[in-house]
Amino acid sequence: MNLTDQELDRYARHIVLPQVGGVGQRKLKAAKAAVIGAGGIGSAVIPALAGAGIGHITIIDDDVVELGNLHRQPLFRERDAGYSKADLALQFVQRLNRFVSAKPVQVRIGNENARDLLAGHDLVIDGSDNFATRLAVSDACVALGLPLLSAAAVQFQGQVGLFRSRPCYRCFVGDAFDADDCDNCAELGVLGALTGTVGSFAALLAINFIVGIGDDPAGKLHLFNGEKLDWREIRIPPNPGCRACGSG
Ligand SMILES: [Zn+2]
Repeated sequence: MNLTDQELDRYARHIVLPQVGGVGQRKLKAAKAAVIGAGGIGSAVIPALAGAGIGHITIIDDDVVELGNLHRQPLFRERDAGYSKADLALQFVQRLNRFVSAKPVQVRIGNENARDLLAGHDLVIDGSDNFATRLAVSDACVALGLPLLSAAAVQFQGQVGLFRSRPCYRCFVGDAFDADDCDNCAELGVLGALTGTVGSFAALLAINFIVGIGDDPAGKLHLFNGEKLDWREIRIPPNPGCRACGSG
């Protein structure tokens, strides 16, 4: 997959990096990413991926913009209230980078449709706001053999992890939350700048993963404390009895 002269200009500051180069930029162009949730996390992830030249981005979100989203979702403006987040995110991508194709999907992803929606992508980035969705997405990624980058932010806490087959996201959270459909942000609150920090970290991890920069990130969870302003990482052990990726 070759780069045009315009793309070589556009991505010059990437291509000059020894870790990226023309080879890495072509990997980004060849990549197909699915982003679940065009909310606080998505508002950081989608512009970063589109700017970086990820060739195709599928944006899955069934929600519309509300005024209470605007403190953490800079993809949207006041006049967007009531309009589809997936459609608005598509318009943002189209205005930012003509070399990226994007597809808005205005449906709620769940157990019944996740495999169909996610098949054919190279990487799934989940920035959704509830455990039921996250577990359905994780189970589909395990079944399809797709890497899943999961990012979440609530109150002052953020977490980002890449899961590939084993351990999976379900190994980390267990089975207790399948029926939990609450909106964490609405109930618990979230600092607006936190979702941007966590989403940008997730985008960086996604780009490094696609290009092949750094150590294999799978199975590690990065935790951010927005009060202490520190990151730490923990390793997620596989759960032998996990009903998605285990033998049990
Ligand atoms: Zn598992």
